[in-house]
Amino acid sequence: MERRGSTMQMGGGAHVLLLPFPVQGHICPMVEFSKRLASKGVRVTIVIPTVSAATKSMKQLLAAQPNNSSFKVELISDGSEHLQKLETAEEHSERFRRVITRNLSNLITNINKNASIDSDNSEDEYDNDDYPLKCIVYHSCMPWVLDIARQHGLDGAPFFTCSSAVTAIFHHFYEGVLKIPSKHARISSTTMLLPSMTAPLGFNDLPSFLSDVDAYPAHLKSTLSQFSNIAQVKWIFCSTFDKLEEKVVKWMASLDWPVKTIGPRIPSTFLDKRLDDEKDYSLSLFKPDVETCMKWLDSKEAGSVVYVSFGSLANLAKDQMEELAWGLNNSNYHFLWVIKESEKEKLPINFFEDISEKGLVVSWCSQLQVLAHEAVGCFVTHCGWNSILEALCLGVPMVTVPQWADQTTNAKFVADVWKVGMRVKVDEKGRITKEELVMRVTQVMEKEIGMEIRKASLMWKQLAKEAVDEGGSSHKNIEEFVAQLRCMIR
Ligand code: UDP
Repeated sequence: MERRGSTMQMGGGAHVLLLPFPVQGHICPMVEFSKRLASKGVRVTIVIPTVSAATKSMKQLLAAQPNNSSFKVELISDGSEHLQKLETAEEHSERFRRVITRNLSNLITNINKNASIDSDNSEDEYDNDDYPLKCIVYHSCMPWVLDIARQHGLDGAPFFTCSSAVTAIFHHFYEGVLKIPSKHARISSTTMLLPSMTAPLGFNDLPSFLSDVDAYPAHLKSTLSQFSNIAQVKWIFCSTFDKLEEKVVKWMASLDWPVKTIGPRIPSTFLDKRLDDEKDYSLSLFKPDVETCMKWLDSKEAGSVVYVSFGSLANLAKDQMEELAWGLNNSNYHFLWVIKESEKEKLPINFFEDISEKGLVVSWCSQLQVLAHEAVGCFVTHCGWNSILEALCLGVPMVTVPQWADQTTNAKFVADVWKVGMRVKVDEKGRITKEELVMRVTQVMEKEIGMEIRKASLMWKQLAKEAVDEGGSSHKNIEEFVAQLRCMIR
């Protein structure tokens, strides 16, 4: 078993700074990546670029945990705590970039000032500040961090938290290979086979920033900016594994991108069990109601519960929430539904009285522990990339209910490429009806019909484990990165 933060090997002393974008789905895989680096003796400082109440309490929670010495967490301000008025998307990204550039630069200067050049002398004392920084791994949506790294003489590497297929699709658009006709000039049945893809895609399978290029201009601009300096970076980390996206990963390599697939990154307890690890992500912006969920699940038969979650950023229309609510209540299965506090008011009146013992609603759960529970038979998911990887790792079949961003593309791959789930169809108003939800859930849950999906789920679970096990593709990529870091002189 690899012990976190305990292995100091010859030529050690590498110190890496990781900068996730401050949303849950971006923090999780980067923290798990940090733990792996730390288990190999790399010093890691995770910098969360905001000082909100949630990140402060997250840092306190981490400090209270035993075994927390594998990485340090620093919070830096993005200036949002001083805001007097609502900002436009452009003002937001300009302020974020300006304030983070200044505060990140100051932090790097301080770390390097404290760093002792002869770091090998202090192997027993864990203090990141003893080690000069060598590299910044930043979320790919902040490509300008490469300039900050360079100004301090460091290497920089983007970390893509989405699927590589999604990254490739955006790159095809960036390069003009993928051309998207305006909505009224399209034939809706048209499909496209892009150079990096195994399956043809329809317009509705594209990320929503592209299927409707006018709908989210600021998001599209920011996503495309990821490629602005990609030819200059030393490594590109992707939260996926080779076998899952073989053709796309090969296509990326054919562009001479220095890609390192390092996924799936979920706590070791749930996959390879090679780290002395926790049962949940170490940094969570929300507090899970673990006991209530586990007790309730323990009282249910194996494979009898439908788990439903729309992720950390869910914001569904009221009529859609109502349809889903009645769909779940009309199905033959128990359900555990995560609904953020702010969304609960969209539920039908008397919903809680009506569901009685059939369903449990919580504001946040430990999704990994829920998916790992034998009572859970399927996952109705919004198709956030982390949720997909977690379901794959735990062998849980899915019913996909994508909302926006990359979720539409992820849903396509779940249903038609990896064949580990079914996609719900929307009606002419773009809504999922209760009847459609009941039908898809039943198809996945029923023993006969869902058999092939369950078989495929178990196959991907095995392949995910192999990727992170000793000698697997993701394991090798992390070993190589660590070896390269150690060879770097600063
Ligand atoms: N999650 C959780 N508890 C919940 C709901 C979600 O721990 O009740 C976690 C989930 O395990 C995943 C992350 O939140 O790691 C959500 O990330 P994802 O990429 O799936 O979706 P996003 O929130 O970014 O839309």
